Amino acid sequence: MTTSNRLRIAIQKSGRLSKDSQQLLKSCGIKFNVNEQRLIAHADNMPIDLLRVRDDDIPGLVMDGVVDLGIIGENVLEEEQLERELIGKRAEVIKLRPLDFGACRLSLAVPTEFAYQDAASLEGLRIATSYPNLLRRFMQNKGISYQDCMLKGSVEVAPRAGLADGICDLVSTGATLEANGLYETEVIFRSMACLVQAPGELSPSKQALVDKIMSRVNGVVQARESKYILLHAPTATLEQIVALLPGAENPTVLPLNDDTNRVAIHAVSSEDLFWDTMEQLKALGASSILVMPIEKMMG
Ligand code: ATP
Ligand code: MG
Repeated sequence: MTTSNRLRIAIQKSGRLSKDSQQLLKSCGIKFNVNEQRLIAHADNMPIDLLRVRDDDIPGLVMDGVVDLGIIGENVLEEEQLERELIGKRAEVIKLRPLDFGACRLSLAVPTEFAYQDAASLEGLRIATSYPNLLRRFMQNKGISYQDCMLKGSVEVAPRAGLADGICDLVSTGATLEANGLYETEVIFRSMACLVQAPGELSPSKQALVDKIMSRVNGVVQARESKYILLHAPTATLEQIVALLPGAENPTVLPLNDDTNRVAIHAVSSEDLFWDTMEQLKALGASSILVMPIEKMMG
């Protein structure tokens, strides 16, 4: 295998994580163009290569050190770890951080007419899934035996097709389940996309690059979760108004021209400011309330 000086990052080629993964890396200042036909995209401005692969391959590539970093759903990562533990293969990764996309849950679901009480209602029945290891761990912990029906896709049609009695599949809104006459009965795993690193030490230059990327990822994610808030407030209610701003530390208070009864407040809030709070601020005499997105942040 060639050992490259360039940092290799594996991301999903096409699917639910692709756009967000690419966007995150671009927001971190990594410049690259993706050619749909090609597996590798070289960054123009940093020694980084992006490997665009099936999401199922990403945990293994990271665990085996074929790539240095990967962006992957925790569901796929955990499933691969359990699979490898079973066959005694190396399954370590360094979890750098969860990301703010790819939220979903792995759930049990059964046909609408199924009288489900708890997981024990599935005793001895057949369950279709693409996540046999996560399902087995859940059922073993509950002491319930069941039969497997391993499907890589179309899991949600298995009960109607007579292949299984229930399913264990990924859900985000539940619309797909409903469209297939199923309902969700139990969440067995909650997942987000996450950034992972290969086990072992990186060369000093690669480590320095990972540190830089991590600091930028932290800034990007933090910025996306934050808002910049500006408003005018009566000095009389200043304290109450500041207390209402979600997660805003030490706001800047500035005098207003020709108005000694009011001040301007600038604050960075760690959360969005909802309509309800804006209405409460207004009731306390605040005016000219502006809520703005933040593009980048560095502590
Ligand atoms: P690939 O061709 O890369 O194997 P895939 O079909 O296995 O793609 P996608 O459907 O693109 O995978 O989902 C990728 C990941 O997106 C999932 O493993 C999960 O972490 C996340 N995800 C978020 N919401 C959902 C959802 N509603 N259904 C499925 N996956 C979801
Ligand atoms: Mg996949």
